[in-house]
Amino acid sequence: RVKVATGPTWVEVDLNAIRHNLRLYLDKCPGSKVIAVVKGDAYGHGIIEISKTVLDAGAWGLGVARVSEGLLLRSSGIDAPIIVLGYSSEQEIKQAVASDLAISVSTEKMLDWILATAREVGRIPRIHLEVDTGMRRLGVKFEDAAQIVHYIHGTNSVYLEGIFTHFASADDPEGFLFKRQLSMFQDLIHLIRERGEVPPIVHAANSAAALYAPESHFDAVRIGIGLYGVQPLQFKTYPLRPAMALRSVVARVLDVHAGEGVSYGHTYVAKESHRAAVIPCGYADGYPRILSNKGEVIVSGIRCPVIGRVCMDNLIVKLPEGVDARVGDAVTLIGSQGSEAVDAGYLARLAGTIPYEILCGIGRRPEKIYI
Ligand code: PLP
Repeated sequence: RVKVATGPTWVEVDLNAIRHNLRLYLDKCPGSKVIAVVKGDAYGHGIIEISKTVLDAGAWGLGVARVSEGLLLRSSGIDAPIIVLGYSSEQEIKQAVASDLAISVSTEKMLDWILATAREVGRIPRIHLEVDTGMRRLGVKFEDAAQIVHYIHGTNSVYLEGIFTHFASADDPEGFLFKRQLSMFQDLIHLIRERGEVPPIVHAANSAAALYAPESHFDAVRIGIGLYGVQPLQFKTYPLRPAMALRSVVARVLDVHAGEGVSYGHTYVAKESHRAAVIPCGYADGYPRILSNKGEVIVSGIRCPVIGRVCMDNLIVKLPEGVDARVGDAVTLIGSQGSEAVDAGYLARLAGTIPYEILCGIGRRPEKIYI
C-alpha cells in the first residue's frame, strides 16, 4: 500500500466499487428506479462525489435526510431528482420548493406547511407521502393515508409524485413484522389505484429488502448501505464490494516491557515484552473509542490488536512476534490489505453497533481520496 494523502490518516473511496454495487441493484430490481440514499455525507463517503458517480452510473435520483443536504447537491450543479426523506421545518420547505427538491410529507403538519408554501410561492411543490405502516417513526397514520391522498388530489396545488413506507425489520424479510408492513402497504396501494389516485412512484424497499424481498420493489427502491458495499444482512453474502477503506501510517515503533501499561489509564498492561506501533488515528477520525482493547488493525499484512485506550488522535497496536513495522508504513483500519480484511461489519460487531454508524462516523477529518 502506498501512502497518497498529505495527512497521516485518510479514507480511500473506491468509485468502481460504488458503480459495481449500483449495477448489482439495477440488475436485481428490473423495472424499478434506484434512489441512491446519500444522506449523512453518503454514509461518510462524500455526498458530492458519490452522487455524481451514481447518477452517471444509472441511478434515477438521490435520497437525502435534510433540506441542507439537498441544497448542497443543487449548488454543486446536480439537477437530478432529489427527495428529502426526513422531517423538514416550514422554513426549510420553502427553500426546498424553490430548489425543486421533492419533500416527503411525513407528518400531518408538514402537509399544512407545504400547502401554505404552494400558495405563497406560486410554484407546485413536488411531494412524496410517507405512510407509517409500523415503523412508528415518521409517516402519516396508516388509517388516514388513503383519505390524505384523496385530499391532495383535490387540491391541485401540489404534485404528489410518490408514496412510500419504511420497514422496521427489512433485515428479517421472512418475519411477521416485515410481512405485515408489506401487506398493509400493498392494500393501501391497491385501494388508491382503484380510485385512480396512485402516484407514479411507489417505493418501500431499502438495501436489504431490494435484495431479499422482490415483492417489495414497486416503482423504486431506496438503496443506502448496499451501495457502499456493506452486506445488508449479517448472515447472507451478496457479491457487493466495500467502497471505503480507512488507512493510516505507523508513527512510532516502541518496545513495551512486561508489566508496563499503555495509553490513558493503562487499561492494557503487557504480560510479556513485545513491540508496539503508534497509529495516528483516533476517535476524532471516527475510529470508535469503544474499540479500545478490542479493535484490529492490519500492519504489514497481519491483523494486530489495539491495546489500551483509543485516544482522540492516536491508537496503539501490539506487534506480534515477527511483524516487521517501520515508521511511515501504511496500515489499514478498515478495508483490506494483502490477504487480510477488516470490514465495517466486523468492526461494528466488535463495537456493539451497526456498520452504518461506523461509516457515518468516519470521514469528517481524514482526507478522502477517490480511486
Ligand atoms: N429509506 C429511508 C427512509 C431511510 O431512512 C434509509 C436509511 O436509513 C434508507 C431508505 C436506506 O436504507 P439502507 O441503508 O438500509 O439501504
